[in-house]
Amino acid sequence: MSQIQDEIKNITATLPQGARLVAVSKFHPESSIEEAYKAGQRIFGESHAQELCRKRELLPKDIEWHFIGHLQTNKVKYIAPFVAMIHAVDSMKLLREIDKQAEKAGRTIPCLLELHVAKEETKFGFTPDECREFAAEGSWKPLAHAPICGLMCMASNTDDMEQVRAEFRLAHGLFNELKAGAFADRPCFKECSWGMSHDYPVALEEGSTLIRVGSKIFGERMY
Ligand SMILES: *Cc1c(COP(=O)(O)O)cnc(C)c1O
Repeated sequence: MSQIQDEIKNITATLPQGARLVAVSKFHPESSIEEAYKAGQRIFGESHAQELCRKRELLPKDIEWHFIGHLQTNKVKYIAPFVAMIHAVDSMKLLREIDKQAEKAGRTIPCLLELHVAKEETKFGFTPDECREFAAEGSWKPLAHAPICGLMCMASNTDDMEQVRAEFRLAHGLFNELKAGAFADRPCFKECSWGMSHDYPVALEEGSTLIRVGSKIFGERMY
């Protein structure tokens, strides 16, 4: 069995009930994705629209493609006809465009709100307070083709696992708060997308339902 297949088997064996693996295949060739596919993996994550569209053409049609990176509004139309989930929605403008393009394609695309909890500066993602405001304000409610199905975050890039744990715990606390509050009547609000190669075991302990693991499975990125 290949190393890729070994890693897939090892990781999926540790998943608690209700948690799923998104195999992050960005910058890895189709042949690596095929290896993972042979091990039974069906959910793959990509972060560039063009790369995703190309791979989708070449690979089996029962793959569930998740878009995990920052998505520009003008790229939504290319992936809307097939993408299974968009993980990092960080503005109302983007959500509206996803809704519009999903409707055009006759689809519903589950979306996650990107939460900024890490120490690093970034221009992407909602702070916890911005996320609360967004949820309470309610403009997302009529967007039936782009339902908000949970939260996504990245922890600080550090070896300090207590710091990482604190950040995931903050995200999970906010998830529970919103689930009992603004999203109480939305059963689809159920996903917690956190955990990458170096921190997914901690993420699973802190409520993750979708881990996004790349380099641990596929090795260092090829291009
Ligand atoms: C690349 C990427 C991952 C996977 O990171 P690894 O450290 O390779 O596991 C997860 N989430 C996002 C948003 C990414 O861009």
